[in-house]
Amino acid sequence: MWLEILNNVRSRKKAIKFPKTFQKSPDEVIETVTPVKKMNKVFGKSLRIRQVDAGSCNACEWECNMLTNPIYDVQRFGVDFVPSPRHADVILATGPVSRQMELALKKTYIAMPEPKLVISCGDCALDGGIYKGSYATRDGVNNVLPVNCHIPGCPPPPKTIVKELLKLMRGISSGSYPPKGS
Ligand code: SF4
Repeated sequence: MWLEILNNVRSRKKAIKFPKTFQKSPDEVIETVTPVKKMNKVFGKSLRIRQVDAGSCNACEWECNMLTNPIYDVQRFGVDFVPSPRHADVILATGPVSRQMELALKKTYIAMPEPKLVISCGDCALDGGIYKGSYATRDGVNNVLPVNCHIPGCPPPPKTIVKELLKLMRGISSGSYPPKGS
């Protein structure tokens, strides 16, 4: 491997070839439609979540943090949080999407492998919430990414988050995706 890298440096050849998706603009990639059948096959009975704070007040994050404590213990359902979008099935975004976080949110989505889902968590993530109409926000995740499921509340209590995640998982595994009522 080291020899290959050395040869690449000597020949000034690019050692890393980026996939074609990186050559597209974020908006082009985001319009990709995920086939439902493929999704059921890949996700199986587990769900890996990449959480993104897109300008929230941080209370939604506190509630999400509770999910992995011994009381809610969301890992028993096959749900867990991952530090990298490369390992995630789902992006869970909180906050109204501040303009500073818009690009980061899009890039996180693009970095996730297909198939992938988007969950908006909290009232701000739905339509901007208390920040709605502000010049500094995009008034909700739906204006930036294709949202599959919304978790209501300000902030949503851990019980509601677990309930909505399980509803989503049930919907995926039973093939009735998207689940009714989401
Ligand atoms: S929904 Fe409520 S708790 Fe969550 S980020 Fe917005 S203001 Fe904060």
